[in-house]
Amino acid sequence: MSRETKISRRRLLLVAASALPAAVGLLPRGGVEAGELSPTRACSDNGDPTPPQMAGPYFKPRSPERDSLLTPGTKGTKIVLTGVVLSTTCQPVPGTLLDFWQCDSDGNYDTTGYTLRGHQFTDADGRYRLETIVPAVYPGRTRHIHVRAQAPNRPVLTTQLYFPGEPGNEGDFLFRRDLLMAIQEQGTVKVARFDFVLKLG
Ligand code: FE
Repeated sequence: MSRETKISRRRLLLVAASALPAAVGLLPRGGVEAGELSPTRACSDNGDPTPPQMAGPYFKPRSPERDSLLTPGTKGTKIVLTGVVLSTTCQPVPGTLLDFWQCDSDGNYDTTGYTLRGHQFTDADGRYRLETIVPAVYPGRTRHIHVRAQAPNRPVLTTQLYFPGEPGNEGDFLFRRDLLMAIQEQGTVKVARFDFVLKLG
C-alpha cells in the first residue's frame, strides 16, 4: 500500500471520529440503529478492499446465527458495532455473512462452546449490527475482534478489528490502522463503527 493511501485512510478515520458524537447524540437511549451513523470511510478510498489477517487458532465453524453475543451471564463493557459491507465499486452487499468471534473479559476464548461467537447476514442495504462486550487483552496481542466476511458465493475474507487508543496497538505484530474501529462512549456503552469493503470481482 502506498504512503498516500495510508494517509488518506487515516484522514478519513479522523473525519469519521469527529462526526460521530453528533450522530450518537441523536440516538434513542438504549437503542442504536445501524443506519444512524455516517460511514467511517468513503468507498471511493482508492477502492482498496479491507485487508485480510490470520484467523488465529480459535475460529470455530457453525457458530449460532445471532446479532447479540450477550447472554445473561456475560461480563464486561457492552459495545455495539455497526457498519455496512460495500464492494470496491461502492455498492452495498446484502446477504453478506459476518461471523464474529472474540475472547471474554478475562481473555479466554470458548473452545468447547459458542460463547462470544455468532454469525449474521447484512440486510438489504448491506448493513449489520453486533452487540457484544469489549474483549480483554490477552498475552501477546493487542485488543481485537476476529471476523470472517463472505459475500454470497464469494471467497471468505478473514480479518481482525482493532480498538483506537490501545497501548498495545503499536507493538502488536498484526495491528493495522486501517482495521481500527471508530469508537465513541455512550454512557456505559461503547458505540463502534466499521465498514467492510469486499473485492467481489
Ligand atoms: Fe484473538
